[in-house]
Amino acid sequence: MKKYIMSLDQGTTSSRCIIFDKSGRIVSMAQKEFSQIFPREGWVEHDPMEIWATQISVAVEAMRMASIDARDIGGIGITNQRETTVVWNKKTGKPIYNAIVWQCRRTAQMCESMKARGYDVLIREKTGLLLDPYFSATKLLWILENVDGAREMAENGELAFGTIDSWLMYKLSGGMCHLTDVSNASRTMLFNIHTRRWDDDILDILNIPRSMLPTVCPSSSIFTYTDAEIFGTSLPIGGVAGDQQAALFGQCCFDKGDTKNTYGTGAFLLMNTGGKPYTPGCGLVSTIGWAIGDIDNITYALEGSVFTCGAAIQWLRDGLKIIDSAAESEYYASKVPDSGGVMVVPAFSGLGAPWWDPYARGTIIGITRATTRGHIVRATLESLAFQTADVVALMERAVSVKIGSLRVDGGASANRLLMSIQADTLGVPIERPECVETTALGAAYLAGLAVGMYSSLNEIRSNTVNDKRFEPKSNESQRKAAIEKWHKAVSRAMEWAEE
Ligand code: ADP
Repeated sequence: MKKYIMSLDQGTTSSRCIIFDKSGRIVSMAQKEFSQIFPREGWVEHDPMEIWATQISVAVEAMRMASIDARDIGGIGITNQRETTVVWNKKTGKPIYNAIVWQCRRTAQMCESMKARGYDVLIREKTGLLLDPYFSATKLLWILENVDGAREMAENGELAFGTIDSWLMYKLSGGMCHLTDVSNASRTMLFNIHTRRWDDDILDILNIPRSMLPTVCPSSSIFTYTDAEIFGTSLPIGGVAGDQQAALFGQCCFDKGDTKNTYGTGAFLLMNTGGKPYTPGCGLVSTIGWAIGDIDNITYALEGSVFTCGAAIQWLRDGLKIIDSAAESEYYASKVPDSGGVMVVPAFSGLGAPWWDPYARGTIIGITRATTRGHIVRATLESLAFQTADVVALMERAVSVKIGSLRVDGGASANRLLMSIQADTLGVPIERPECVETTALGAAYLAGLAVGMYSSLNEIRSNTVNDKRFEPKSNESQRKAAIEKWHKAVSRAMEWAEE
C-alpha cells in the first residue's frame, strides 16, 4: 500500500512541494522563490525554465528531508498559479518567450478593443469570465503577435500553449504530453464551460490555431506518468487544479453551496454551485471547480474577490505604523469592545464586487475625540469581514442558496477576533481547518482519488479536522444594522470619487 501523495504547488512567487500522508497530514515541505521579471510598468513575467528548475528541486528536497522513497508515493498532484501563459516549441521543448503572469496588464488595450466590438457578452456567456487581461487568451495572442516567427510556427503546428500545469506535466513526462485539466482550462478565456470544449468561435475571433491547445482532462484522473529518470521510478500524475479550485477541494467544499474564503493580500471567495454553471453579474465569475474521473462529471463554482484584504492590515503596519506586526492587529482590536462608531473602507484601489467602482478611495468615518488606535484597528478588521459578507450575499442571491458555514484559510484567518467578527457579520459558523495548506492538500486529494488511495469524497471528508469553529453571537437585526451602516460608509467612499 502506498503511503504518500506528493503535491506540487507552483505559486506566483515560489514553487513548493508538500508531501502528505494518506490522512492529509504534512510529512515534509520544501519551498523556493524564483525571479519576478518586470520588463516595463505593469508587465510581469516569469522564466518557465526557472519555474521548472525550482519546482523539481523542491520535489527532490522534500523527499530527501523525510527520507521518502519514490516507490512509497502513490501519485502526484499539481496546483498552480492560474492564467499564467507559456508557449513552447514542440520540437525543442524550449519556451519561445517568458511566461506572461496573470498580474500582467500588457493586453489591456487588446481587451478594450474587443469590448468595443461587443465581445464581452459572448465571452461571459461562453466562458463565465470577464473580458480582462487577467485571463490567458490575450496573453497568448500577444506572444503570437510580438515574438518573431511565432505566428508562422503556430500556423505550422510547431508551438504548444499551456498554463503552468501544462508546462510542468510536459517537463515531468519528459516532453511526452500536452495536457491540462478543466479548472485551468476554464481560466484561459478560450474554453466553453457549458460544452466543456475549446470554443471554436473564440478561437476564430482571436485567430488562435487549435493545434496549440492542450488536451483537456478531468482534474482527478491519470494524466500521465513522470519520466522514470526524475524520481528513480515513474509516478502517476493523478490530480491537477488551479490554486483557488484546489483550495475549494482541499476545504472539502464538495456540496452545492459550500463556500470558502482565503484571506490573503486580497481575498478569494469560491462557492461550489454543483453541476450547473450560473451566469452571474456584478463582477462574479463562473468557473469550473473540478471534474472527477470523467470530463462530464463536473462541479462548477462561483468566484469573487476582494482587492484589499490582508493588505489593509499591512497598511496599518507599514503606512499608518500603528501596529508592529499583522498579528498585533488582534491585540489592539481586542482592547476595545467595539469600533466606537468608526468605519474604515479600504478602497485603496477602488472597490470590487458588488460595487465595481475603480475611482472609489479609502475612507475613515465616524471619528470622535474618543477614537483610539484600537478603534481604527478594529474597524479595519471589520472591513475585511464586511467586504467578505458583501460577496457572500451576492453569491447567495445568484445561486438562491444560503450558506451553512464559511470555511476559511489564508494568512489573516489566523486572527481569531477577525474570525469571530466574520461569524457575527454573516450569522453562520466559521470553520478553520487544522491544515491550512488547503491548496496543496486539494491537489493531493484529487491525485489520491485518481490512484485509488481514497475510494470516495466521504473518505476524504473524514480526514478533515477542524482546528476551530467560530460561532456567531449576533442576531439578525444587529447584523442588518451593521451591514446598513457599512453600506453607508461605502457610499461615502464612492461619493469621494465623483467630486
Ligand atoms: P498571500 O498569499 O496573498 O501573500 P497570505 O495568505 O500569506 O497572503 O496572507 C498574508 C496576509 O495576511 C498579509 O496581508 C497580512 O497582513 C495578513 N495577516 C497575516 N497574519 C495576520 C493576522 N494575524 N491578522 C490579520 N492579518 C494577518
